[in-house]
Amino acid sequence: MPSHSEDMYKEIARRLQDWCTASCRKYPWRERRDPYVILVTELLLQRTGAETVAKIFEEIFSKYRTIEELASASSEELRGLFSKLGLLYRAERLREMAKVIVEKHGGRVPCDMGELLKMKGVGVYIASAVLNFGCGIPTPVVDKNVLRVLNRVFGVTRESKCREIISKLYRAGDSALIAFALIDLGAMVCVEPPRCKECPLSDVCAKHPLRKEEWRMYRKVLRDGRVLLEEQPVD
Ligand code: SF4
Repeated sequence: MPSHSEDMYKEIARRLQDWCTASCRKYPWRERRDPYVILVTELLLQRTGAETVAKIFEEIFSKYRTIEELASASSEELRGLFSKLGLLYRAERLREMAKVIVEKHGGRVPCDMGELLKMKGVGVYIASAVLNFGCGIPTPVVDKNVLRVLNRVFGVTRESKCREIISKLYRAGDSALIAFALIDLGAMVCVEPPRCKECPLSDVCAKHPLRKEEWRMYRKVLRDGRVLLEEQPVD
C-alpha cells in the first residue's frame, strides 16, 4: 500500500467504516443528530460511565425535549433524575448552561467552535463532538484512545497532527462513522497491549511504539478574558 497517499487514506477510511458498522458500541446518542442531545450527553459522559448514562438517556430526553424545557425544569425534578447518576451537582450545572443558551443563542446550541468553547465545562473534545455528531460539520474528535491509535499507525503524538490526519480520512467517508470507529478502536482493540489480530488496520499499521511522553492534547485556557487553545502534555 502506498504510504500516506490519498489512496491510503481512502482505504483506511473504508476499513474503519466497515469495522464500525459491524463492531462499534451501540449507544442511543449515537443515533441522534441533535447538537442539544450531544452536548448534554457529552457533559454527562465526562465523569460518568456510558452504561450509566445510557440507562437514563431516554428519560432525560423524553422529559426535556428542548433546551428551553431543560432551562425551565424545577430543581426537584432534575435532582430526582440526576441522583440516579450519583452526580447531583451536575443537574444544576446543566440547567445553568441551558439558561445561557436560551438567553444568548435563542435556545439553539451554537454550531460554532468559538461559541461552544466559551461555555463552562466545554473543552475541545466536547465542542468537536457537538459539531461533528450533532451539527453534521466534519470536525475531528480526539481523545486519548484516538491519539493512541494514530500514534501507532502514523507515529504522530500531537493532537494538531491527529486532527490533520482525521480531516483527510473524513474527506474519504462519513465523518461520524469514522470518528466512532477511531474512538472505539482505541477503546477496544488498540489497547495496551494492542490486539492487532482483531484490528482492521493490521496490515496498514506501521505499529510505531507509543511515545506518551511526547503526547500533547489541546486544553482550553482562559487568558485576559479570551479563550485560547494550547497543546499541553497529557496526564
Ligand atoms: S494494528 Fe495493532 S497497533 Fe495498529 S492500530 Fe491496530 S491494534 Fe493498534
